[in-house]
Amino acid sequence: MIKNSIISLKLINSAAFAVQDELFKVGLWFEGSKLAETEIYWCALSPFSLSDADGFFTHCVSPVQKILGFEQGHIYIPSFVLSQKIWKKRGSIRDVIRHEYAHSLAHYYPKLISKSDFKNTFGDDYYTYEPIKMKKKAFISKYARIMPMEDFAETFMVYVRRKGIMPSTIKNKQLIKKWQYISSLINLINK
Ligand SMILES: [Zn+2]
Repeated sequence: MIKNSIISLKLINSAAFAVQDELFKVGLWFEGSKLAETEIYWCALSPFSLSDADGFFTHCVSPVQKILGFEQGHIYIPSFVLSQKIWKKRGSIRDVIRHEYAHSLAHYYPKLISKSDFKNTFGDDYYTYEPIKMKKKAFISKYARIMPMEDFAETFMVYVRRKGIMPSTIKNKQLIKKWQYISSLINLINK
């Protein structure tokens, strides 16, 4: 946890370095890995539509966002999050970066993500902006329930944090399937 809600560039850089080392350990950071095309940028504030995000990945950018300097295919970490008060702690910056790298993976490996096994695992396509009906225990976090892409990103975040070793507390079959999906995705990327 971070003591106050303002994030420095130094903090982002050290968290990014640590997460890239974890990505290396799970087999996603190597010579030629498309994940390395993602830059991690510090920005003062998020665009208005994402004002409560601790971080975000730009699958696409609107003309207004472009004027503000955002580019497609990168991770942005805002220094200050409008919805958070100065005294409110925000989550680990490493977790934010782990989560955003999942969106990067989907962005740079679109063919792998669009296969039917994504839908079979997460209940619908990656770009489905609606919640999926599944048992609560089939989701790794509350945020994962928002839509398939966030479910994928949240599961990926824990996967990378745990270096691919599934916590013994995970018992739900659907959640185990999501975990295994990420393992098989990494195998495909390494082929
Ligand atoms: Zn996300």
